[in-house]
Amino acid sequence: KTGARQNQSYKARRAPGRRRSKTKPAAMGTHTSEAEKEMREWCVALPKVELHAHLNGSVRNSTLLELAKELGDKGVIVFEDVKGVIMKNDRSLPECVRLFDLFHTLTTDHDTVTRIAKEVVGDFAAENVVYLEIRTTPKNNEAKGITKRSYMNAVVKGLKSVEDVDVVINDEKLSCTPMSVLGGDTKRKKIYVRLLLSIDRHETTSAALDTVNLAMEMKDQGVIGIDLSGNPVVGEWETYLPALEHAKELGIPTTIHCGEVPNRKEIQAMLDFCPQRLGHVCCLDDEEWKKLKSSVIPVEICLTSNVMTGGTPSLELHHFADLYNTKHPLSICTDDSGLFSTSLSNEYYLAASTFGLSKTELFRLAQGAVEFVFADDEVKKSLRAVFERAAAERLTS
Ligand SMILES: [Zn+2]
Repeated sequence: KTGARQNQSYKARRAPGRRRSKTKPAAMGTHTSEAEKEMREWCVALPKVELHAHLNGSVRNSTLLELAKELGDKGVIVFEDVKGVIMKNDRSLPECVRLFDLFHTLTTDHDTVTRIAKEVVGDFAAENVVYLEIRTTPKNNEAKGITKRSYMNAVVKGLKSVEDVDVVINDEKLSCTPMSVLGGDTKRKKIYVRLLLSIDRHETTSAALDTVNLAMEMKDQGVIGIDLSGNPVVGEWETYLPALEHAKELGIPTTIHCGEVPNRKEIQAMLDFCPQRLGHVCCLDDEEWKKLKSSVIPVEICLTSNVMTGGTPSLELHHFADLYNTKHPLSICTDDSGLFSTSLSNEYYLAASTFGLSKTELFRLAQGAVEFVFADDEVKKSLRAVFERAAAERLTS
């Protein structure tokens, strides 16, 4: 049923007048034509807003390899077993799952968490992401002396230790740092970073409540929202609901991984909860789809991730087309750029090459995402100015 709906919308998208690139959407590194190269560069230069990125899934391959080697030397893992998967660019789903387990083995000390946070911010800034919301699950690990709070402190330390980019994580710094001019005479990039604390679907109600309370405590350190994520076939909605309701009472915005697998009751409940944003929305039936659209809840679209994890049968059949055509609020996101060997620029490129979006349409898409950030109006104002300036510079040149 879902497939039929998507198919129909895709045809609509390819109405006469729509030109579609003959180049098969492909991962980076394959043979590229001049036009593709130019478009890819344009997507990198485009200022972008990233709203759905998991910290652990966004680790660079080179760092992953180095950390795995260290763990191998310590005898925690067998390095040769994971080396091949790390070096591979086009991973199968079982390989992704294996890597995901590895991420969790790797992030069990504060220094590694700090390093990863620092590098992830640097990588996003390098591809001209001007606003980034990173989500991560604060974990207690008694054996390693890690608490949810100390884990998050390590993340914040990472954000603060980025050297070659101006990282703005709270309003205090906002008022004293002048806005760098994108494409102007300064080479130094500036990125707003905010943190979302994830409730993992394996957690109990009380652990989920702890996470929400921690988010409240860390409000002045860039923590801005709550996410619900994790293995979509694990756990019950009722377990997390008290924590999500608590967040709502405290005025903390929420985003929810929704419909990664078909689960009628849960999808209904998630839509009824009315979070500020929803991630994925892959497996909605017609009824739920209608409800989503009338709700106008912004959707975080993760093209590569949805294809690789089987949430959608192919890029061409992705529900992006339907949402885009009906002007549903949405933003393009990576989910796990390291894990899925992608980048936000690549996701924009895929949207263009698969659905025939023009540069102007891509620009509007990136600009539109500003309205769905969890940061306050001051930040939104600054971001709007970034895009207006970029529009004046880029669209006229
Ligand atoms: Zn996700």
